[in-house]
Amino acid sequence: MPVGIDAGPLQRQLACFGFEVTLLSQAAKLARALQEATPVAVVAFSEFADNDPIIQLAPAVSSTCPLVLTSPRRDFPVRLAATRLGACGLLDWPLQANQLVDLLRFGDISERRDPLRVLIVEDMASLAGLYTQVLAAHGVEATSETNPEKVPERIEQLSPDLILMDMYMPQCNGIELAKVIRQQRLLDGIPIVFLSVEKRQVVQLDALTLGIDGFLTKPVAPEELVVTVINRARRYRKLRSYIANDSLTGLLNHSHLHGQMDSGILRARRDSLPLSLAMLDLDYFKRINDTYGHQAGDQVLLNLARFLKERLRRTDLVGRYGGEEFAIVLGGMPIMRAHQIMDSLRQDFSQLEQQAENRSFRQTFSVGISSLQTAEDSISLVQQADEMLYRAKEEGRNRVESRGG
Ligand code: GH3
Ligand code: MG
Ligand code: MG
Ligand code: MG
Repeated sequence: MPVGIDAGPLQRQLACFGFEVTLLSQAAKLARALQEATPVAVVAFSEFADNDPIIQLAPAVSSTCPLVLTSPRRDFPVRLAATRLGACGLLDWPLQANQLVDLLRFGDISERRDPLRVLIVEDMASLAGLYTQVLAAHGVEATSETNPEKVPERIEQLSPDLILMDMYMPQCNGIELAKVIRQQRLLDGIPIVFLSVEKRQVVQLDALTLGIDGFLTKPVAPEELVVTVINRARRYRKLRSYIANDSLTGLLNHSHLHGQMDSGILRARRDSLPLSLAMLDLDYFKRINDTYGHQAGDQVLLNLARFLKERLRRTDLVGRYGGEEFAIVLGGMPIMRAHQIMDSLRQDFSQLEQQAENRSFRQTFSVGISSLQTAEDSISLVQQADEMLYRAKEEGRNRVESRGG
């Protein structure tokens, strides 16, 4: 990156999505850095001058790891040059955080960190093994299941990006199984591709009208299998993420937090475990926007999202419930413990320096907590946490209130 650019905001947004950023202001340091560690991607600024050291290094870099170029130039020769240098993307300069985040989160780059997942449902183990191998050779994580009855459970465990399904199995046929899967609202968009010796067009069309995403005729050529599966799985993963995640913070959005909270509640009830819900709202946040500007406000939201993700357990659900309101579902956690944890988060966050242009300030939040012990469903759980949040605000803000706590 050019010298003198404040990369802080970009760094924080990337951090929200789990990327760690190393900044280099001299191309000469790049070769050394790449010897020490292979990053997810190298993002380099260039004006495409002939003597630009980045341009000279580019082919070597792009043969080691994905290279993303960013440039104020957008003309055709520059785009062509970027492609020839092996760059997997050319982004506008100044760099827009969300464009970079998108590029890193989807497609080839993200799949190195988080491979596409495919569930293969096929009663013939030998065939299932073959498909698994073909897909694995292209970086896809394939898991097979021979028993249709186990499929719903497998979907829950694996969260696949696509299901590859045999049409004819002893217990039930593929169409029936597909219907069972589609009954679940959260799964009604998952791509299902059928595999069958069926060549009759009527039957294939029948399957397609049922909302099936593709039909591969056995014996299927490996290349066809790979292309069909990867394209559809990729598209679904991207759509699902746009639908489920808040675009600023990467946290679950309102409706998907609710969907997952409902599953969490069902699990907690089934296993007789406690569950707490914390509703968090920034204090006097309007003033921050008014005083330092909306962008500084956005940075606070990003810092908080990052902070929560880092400090909470992987299994806790963290969502952006509304503008400056966040919801956290703490599975397996009794309300007293949830209170302690949220209170220590509150104290620590309030000590962080928030940056705005050349000034810095501090930001506090208030929290209300409820638990499944007193609430019968998600509606009353949210309502009770909201009441506690209201109390925390009334009592002066920058505090945690919990029901009965
Ligand atoms: P209180 O302590 O009572 O919660 O006061 P408050 O100012 O935080 O509450 P109020 O509901 O009056 O204002 C919320 C503010 O949050 C107003 C709105 O501009 C700001 N806000 C909501 N979403 C965003 C966002 O995405 N970015 C930024 N920068 N501000 C946001
Ligand atoms: Mg079969
Ligand atoms: Mg507020
Ligand atoms: Mg609010």
